[in-house]
Amino acid sequence: MPTYNDCGIVLNSYDLGESDKILNIYTKENGLVRAVVKGVRKPLSKFSGKVDQLSCCYFHLANGKNLDTVCDCEQVNSFSLLRANLALLTSAVLFLEIVGNFAHEDETDSLHIYDLLYESLDRLQRSSNPDLDSISFISKFLSINGYKPQFETCVSCAVEVGLAPALLDNFPYSSILGGILCSNCSPLIDNKSIDLDVLKVLFEFESDDFPSRNIQEELKSKNIRSALELLREHLDIRAKKKIKSFDLVFSL
Ligand SMILES: [Zn+2]
Repeated sequence: MPTYNDCGIVLNSYDLGESDKILNIYTKENGLVRAVVKGVRKPLSKFSGKVDQLSCCYFHLANGKNLDTVCDCEQVNSFSLLRANLALLTSAVLFLEIVGNFAHEDETDSLHIYDLLYESLDRLQRSSNPDLDSISFISKFLSINGYKPQFETCVSCAVEVGLAPALLDNFPYSSILGGILCSNCSPLIDNKSIDLDVLKVLFEFESDDFPSRNIQEELKSKNIRSALELLREHLDIRAKKKIKSFDLVFSL
């Protein structure tokens, strides 16, 4: 049986038979990999504690017809700080669910998505505002996947809208099309009004950098939540199925 090595993060797992588990792993080079770990639920298994959800491991895998098999693995990062804090863990599980929801095998962009997931989880460990980390992660994830919401130009006719402050304090936004609308298109397309302060939160993540601490302090938590709700709706419309972890994030 041919074998291969790859680094991956365990998105989730479920039990198989008496002592095995099936893992959904997001890998650096092969995208989504489904693999069985034999005997992992036996007390003295060499895999015990290494392949839980969120674990990042260097895997040695054997190709199978439907499922690959984990022959061996070495844990690279357990993200222990995330496991010790409920709010951080909840956001981390959200990241995993989003990646799993959009992932497929033999993905061409798996390296970028893997790096984004790893770096976002690592930064989340030291976060004092997990909602901002979630917005950062989701914005970048949508950019890689080509599903980024459109805020600079009208999503329907592409005319420049220009969010000049003081001119308007809210903008018509189409959830289905995923962007703001100009004044000509807004009477023709179903939309809702988005506050400029909410859009400003999302703008802060347009660049590659995380907003500076000063800007983070200026952003009001009400607007941060509304921005995250907007991204939730945007993802749910485009995902294979509804992203359930948002319920827990919003309940905290
Ligand atoms: Zn338009």
